[in-house]
Amino acid sequence: KKILLKKPEWLKINFPINCDNIQNIKKILRKNQLNTVCEEAQCPNLSECFNSGTATFMILGSVCTRKCPFCAVSKGRAEKVNFKEPKKLAYVISKLHLKHVVITSVTRDDLKDKGIKHFCQCIKEIRKKNNVTIEILVPDFRGVLKTVLDCFKKNLPNIFNHNIENVPRLYSEVRPGAHYKSSLKLLYNFHKKFPHIHTKSGLMLGLGERFDEVILVLKDLRKVGVSMITIGQYLQPSINHLPVKKYITPSKFKNLEKIALSMGFSSVFSGVFVRSSYHAQLQKQDMNLI
Ligand code: SF4
Ligand code: SF4
Repeated sequence: KKILLKKPEWLKINFPINCDNIQNIKKILRKNQLNTVCEEAQCPNLSECFNSGTATFMILGSVCTRKCPFCAVSKGRAEKVNFKEPKKLAYVISKLHLKHVVITSVTRDDLKDKGIKHFCQCIKEIRKKNNVTIEILVPDFRGVLKTVLDCFKKNLPNIFNHNIENVPRLYSEVRPGAHYKSSLKLLYNFHKKFPHIHTKSGLMLGLGERFDEVILVLKDLRKVGVSMITIGQYLQPSINHLPVKKYITPSKFKNLEKIALSMGFSSVFSGVFVRSSYHAQLQKQDMNLI
């Protein structure tokens, strides 16, 4: 029998919902066949973010070829690449008057280039139509590092984000199919080649990691040049996903924020509801990208 941890009081918060605005954004997304991670991953910040006009777009379909057991994104046979997506994305961003956008994707191990060219095409089309800052939150692009560096050279984002997610000891359970060292290598190589672009990563806690292990991961991220970090609480999307082992208290998140800042991270967002793109607009201000 699966035993669920009782949610602590600090997790029982109701965000104000302005339904009209949310419904309007959802309508525009559906009409243009675009997906957001906010909806797919059942993000707890959806109302707050949609209301303030922030959304994280998910390109290359909504079905992932990996099977991370913490993740609510659908898994299975990947969809065909929609080559009209870059233009549609550019159009919707201008229609929603966004000034900072986050673009992410499912992992596409089925594609030869792992979807890199499509990412770059999206950046190119968005820049043609909009004066926006662009953050990309990328999968590990396993085995095609050279293509990553070549392709992004002509289509640079403002922030390059790749989530390390958790500590290496728990990778086989939390991120099967991914390797801690490969993720660090991707961040390192991107930073080395494009030192003027901010690199960013994210951790979700509550999966059984120890505090000292988290500190070591933060140190590793600094060593490879990562300057922006988000740290949040893992929340179990359904009974079929990995259970939460521990709810981290708000004061522990605050403590981690202090530690990360003392390590030299320039932007640190650490809190129960923090996600990679949480308050992306504010994170951008932190880095003086406005
Ligand atoms: Fe979407 Fe990110 Fe906001 Fe969640 S935190 S609703 S994924 S923009
Ligand atoms: Fe979810 Fe990313 Fe894992 Fe795919 S690779 S299942 S999108 S966390």
